[in-house]
Order: sequence, then structure tokens, then C-alpha cells
Amino acid sequence: MTAQIIDGKAFAAEVREKVAGHVSRLKQEHGITPGLAVVLVGEDPASQVYVRNKGKQTIEVGMSSFEHKLPAETSQEELLELLDRLNADPQIHGILVQLPLPSHVDEELVINRIDPDKDVDGFHISNVGRLATGQKSMVPCTPLGCLMMLRDQRGSLSGLDAVVIGRSNIVGKPMAQLLLGDSCTVTIAHSRTRGLPEVVRRADVVVAAVGRPGFVRGEWIKPGATVIDVGINRIEAPEKGTNDDGSVKTRLVGDVDFDGAVQVAGAITPVPGGVGPMTIACLLANTVTACCRANGLDEPEGLTA
Ligand code: NDP
Repeated sequence: MTAQIIDGKAFAAEVREKVAGHVSRLKQEHGITPGLAVVLVGEDPASQVYVRNKGKQTIEVGMSSFEHKLPAETSQEELLELLDRLNADPQIHGILVQLPLPSHVDEELVINRIDPDKDVDGFHISNVGRLATGQKSMVPCTPLGCLMMLRDQRGSLSGLDAVVIGRSNIVGKPMAQLLLGDSCTVTIAHSRTRGLPEVVRRADVVVAAVGRPGFVRGEWIKPGATVIDVGINRIEAPEKGTNDDGSVKTRLVGDVDFDGAVQVAGAITPVPGGVGPMTIACLLANTVTACCRANGLDEPEGLTA
């Protein structure tokens, strides 16, 4: 048996299309344009690429994009003042502060300054609490994308055994909460977990968010399980040759040994082209949701948890 490969790129394009449809209705029927503000402090090259992609996709779905690029030496006070202005601006429905922030800035303080209703990353402590207590919240984008793919793949998740490998605040923990919300029996595994292969072997749903290339072995997977690989790891790829400076070329791989797992699983996300593209699509989905909530309108179906 060979697993179905879940096409995250195509799925993300569908999500963006749904978002664009809602944006167009909000504009036509209510005269409202959802707006997303992205704040970048400093010149981290990877963050600059992310912010550029976010801005581009925001505009493509018809929303307003507000980019605030601040120098690395921006003080914490200046950043907090900017957030206060964005919080008060009715044209802005979503605010995202690109992480990591420079070391002189208290990340937690900054995130918790964002109005929770505009916190489209879902990292504000109020949203963490709302998610944990089953209330309406803003849900972190990567786990939301994983949940959408799982629901699409499996239909109802009720009663399934799920294992989430990784317990970070941005992926593992919210992912586990979402699966619990959909009535899975959830195990959260981490670096101290004993007998991980056996834990994984029981699971109908495996979400790997570890940050170690090929860590989850194919022989751990239960036949027919759905495997969602969140990991993004860059490894050397000597088969691709060398760069102009003589260094070995690289490629991206996930946390799952894809070649092994694809022989056993029922469905699996590839890396790249699986979970990755869903993250920005879900950021856009969260912005539309925030905009609808702010205006007392029905939330878009299929774009929230
Ligand atoms: P963290 O480093 O914050 O968390 C990694 C988790 O893996 C920790 O909870 C850690 O356990 C656990 N872990 C480490 N080693 C083992 C082990 N040997 N056995 C079991 N568990 C282990 O990473 P993130 O959650 O931020 O990210 C995980 C991966 O997902 C990374 O590759 C990252 O690049 C990727 N990612 C992808 C995104 C996307 O858009 N697709 C978005 C965000 C992340 P412990 O807590 O005990 O240390």
C-alpha cells in the first residue's frame, strides 16, 4: 500500500480562494475591507522573506496589507506604542508581529499587548486560554492548517487516537488542544517520552513537530494512519552538487522518514509542499474571521476551528 500524498499547496490555494470569496462579499455587501498589519523589527533575512510573502498573499485575496518595518534598534516602548495605534485602528482587523524579536525586546510583553481579537497568530495568553477552555479564539495558524487537512482527509476525527510529537507553544500544544476539541484521544509526546515507537504505532493520526530530520521512522507508523509532518529541516544534499562558493547544496526535509512512512500510512503530507503553504493561508483565514467577529457578522464556514 502506498499512502495518498496530501497536496498542501493545492489545499492552501483552495483556502485562499475561499478567503477571497468572503473578502469580496464583505466588500460588496458591507463595504468592509479586512486589513492585516504585519510588524517586522530588524533585518533577519528569513523573516523578511516571510513578511514579503504574507503581504503579497494578503493583497492577492483582496485584503488591505499594512507593513511596518522597523529598525533593529527600535525600543520596546516604541513597539508597544505602535501596537496601541494598530489596536485602535478600525481599518486593521489582524495584527502579526514577526518573531523572533531582537533580544532587547520582551517578546511575551509585546505579544500580550496585541488586542486578543486582532491576534491572528493566536499567541496572546487570552487566546491560549480560550482555546484550552473551548471558547471562541484566534487559533495559531500552523496547527489550524493541520486540522483543516486532517478534517478534509478523515471527515470526523471523533474517537481517533492521535499523537502529537512536540509540545511547543506555537505548534504542539495548540495542535493537541484542537485535536481534543475534535474529540480525538490525544497523546502529547516530547523528548522525555518513553517508548515513542509504541506510542506512535497506536495512533490513527500522527502530527510530527520535532525539528529533527527524518526522526519518525516508517516502521513506527500504524498501517493506514494519517501523518502530518510539520517539520522543516534544511539538510545537505550532496546529490545536488555544490554552490559557487564550494559549499554543498541543501534541501528541505520533514521530521518524518517520508520514504519509509509513505509505504505504510494511509495519507501523508510531504515536505516541502505539505503543511508549509497552509500557514499563511490560515493567517489570511484568521484575518477574515477576526474582521467578521469585529463587525458582528457570521464567521466564514470551514475557515475556523
Ligand atoms: P520546538 O523546538 O519549539 O519544539 C520541538 C519539540 O520537539 C519539543 O517539544 C521537544 O521536546 C520535542 N522533541 C525534541 N526532541 C525529541 C525527541 N527525541 N523525541 C520526542 N520529542 C522531541 O519546535 P517547534 O514546535 O517550533 O517546531 C517544530 C518543527 O516544525 C520545526 O522543524 C519547525 O521548523 C517546524 N515548523 C513549521 C512550521 C510550518 O509552517 N510548517 C511552523 C512552525 C514550525 P521537549 O519539549 O521535551 O524539549
